[in-house]
Amino acid sequence: DLLELSRLEGTDRAWHLVPLDLADLVEETANTYREIAQEADLLLYVEIGDYLPPIQGDATLLRQVITNLLDNAIKYTEPGGHVWMTLSGDDEAVHLSVRDTGVGIPPTHLDRIFERFYRVDKGRCRKMGGTGLGLAIVKHIVEKHHGKIAVESEYGEGTCFTVTLHDIPEEQMVPAAASS
Ligand code: ATP
Ligand code: MG
Repeated sequence: DLLELSRLEGTDRAWHLVPLDLADLVEETANTYREIAQEADLLLYVEIGDYLPPIQGDATLLRQVITNLLDNAIKYTEPGGHVWMTLSGDDEAVHLSVRDTGVGIPPTHLDRIFERFYRVDKGRCRKMGGTGLGLAIVKHIVEKHHGKIAVESEYGEGTCFTVTLHDIPEEQMVPAAASS
């Protein structure tokens, strides 16, 4: 993960922008996690809007965004809970939300969770075996796509991460290695 993050920060990972079907990526990721969710006694829902504007992106990187967010939602939600992945679109952008009825994040930690190695409660999470890099990677990938990520959470109630992606203008579609 650390290697992946430094690659993203550096210039040596060429990225491959292609027209993307985010709905496919979301379905695919949900299917990968269906069994894990079931074993954790969680209900996993996928809701895909009718209209999604076309966007360009790197499928491998965006798959990682969806995977890391879903992995967290499942990991930080108690048995009996619910997890939703929602994809919606308007003229401007595609919005991907990953929402859960999990443990939530206290307000004082909300600004810091995207920092590398940052974990809310090391004691609580130790058994989960995470390193605190997942969201740092997510944020990097989203920013590389000129997108935005937002989080809303209520401690003890649940959390919702929303990623907004616009189509990348032609002139910005240069490989990261060439641009920086
Ligand atoms: P890794 O993803 O590297 O395996 P991690 O899950 O601990 O480890 P991040 O994904 O970066 O690291 O998340 C950082 C911290 O933010 C987590 O340790 C957890 O405390 C909190 N967090 C992230 N997602 C959620 C969520 N859906 N619900 C509650 N807390 C969350
Ligand atoms: Mg994680």
